[in-house]
Amino acid sequence: MQNKTEPSRQLSLFEGADLAILAIDPSGIEPPATRPPQRRPDPQRPRPSGQVPAPGATPLAPVAAPSVPRGAAPPASPFVFPSAPPRIAPPQEPAPPATRRYDDGTHRFDYILRRASRRSIGIRIDDQGIVVSVPRWVALGQVQSALADKAAWVVRQHALREQRHRAQQAARIDWREGGRLPYLGRTLTLRLGASGNTAHLRDDAGELHLPLPADSDARRVRDTAQAWLQREAMVLFQQRTAHFAQQLGVVVRAIRLTSASTRWGSATACGTLRLHWRLLHFSPAIVDYVVAHEVAHLREMNHSPRFWQTVGELFPEWQTARSELRHSLLPPWE
Ligand SMILES: [Zn+2]
Repeated sequence: MQNKTEPSRQLSLFEGADLAILAIDPSGIEPPATRPPQRRPDPQRPRPSGQVPAPGATPLAPVAAPSVPRGAAPPASPFVFPSAPPRIAPPQEPAPPATRRYDDGTHRFDYILRRASRRSIGIRIDDQGIVVSVPRWVALGQVQSALADKAAWVVRQHALREQRHRAQQAARIDWREGGRLPYLGRTLTLRLGASGNTAHLRDDAGELHLPLPADSDARRVRDTAQAWLQREAMVLFQQRTAHFAQQLGVVVRAIRLTSASTRWGSATACGTLRLHWRLLHFSPAIVDYVVAHEVAHLREMNHSPRFWQTVGELFPEWQTARSELRHSLLPPWE
């Protein structure tokens, strides 16, 4: 039971590794001095006034994925996914996104240009590629010069994303006899054709035996493995939660498995912990870090230095585990 006002804390799933976003303040970008006369003023359009027109843009720090120095407390607010893409241009403008090329001789990339009712130039690198959203009144030349300041950043972030994508594809699980499943820091081999009706782990052999015909289709193998992983996750989470909660003297009222796409875990003030079942792909140390993190929130509903001190008391190796979690790869579940 969770009411809307109840404080809760979340541990983000992709702590900045998967999205690169940059906002460029338009303070240096003025609407064109001479506007086409037929264009009526838009009352909602920002009207910078009293500013010295400047050709460049004033860069801001990235709005997401702040890099937190090792050991420093990360921001208390949960990582927030950017809002939905800006509204598409009015119907009289061409519907398909315009792909443009940026090339300054050193850095070269294609990007999708979006015109939107917004105040800043936003650069976002996601599954669509490089998307540059700009206020409607900003001229293409101004977009290009704003990009010039950030070209190195864009190219680097794009390369990192591609690299991550390739690694993720390589980590794909082959859902059939002999397929390999990452489990608590090891790799299990999938074995089909087991008798009985429950999956079981042959620990010594590092094999997961599934009670399925040898020619079962991939989806069935995956679903059976998923049910087994979720059962195992619940058992392990209960054990580790009990361990840390007792150490801290707090009461956990309920543990729920989550498959949220944006966070590994969360805790509510009334004592409900939500933990992502796919943490079971990772090492026991990572599982302990996430569980200790959420249990610590039952005492400190924030990410203050006192919170991190509490995490450290529960699980002294938390920094290593946290960094390992940030760099770990979650295989696609398909
Ligand atoms: Zn937290």
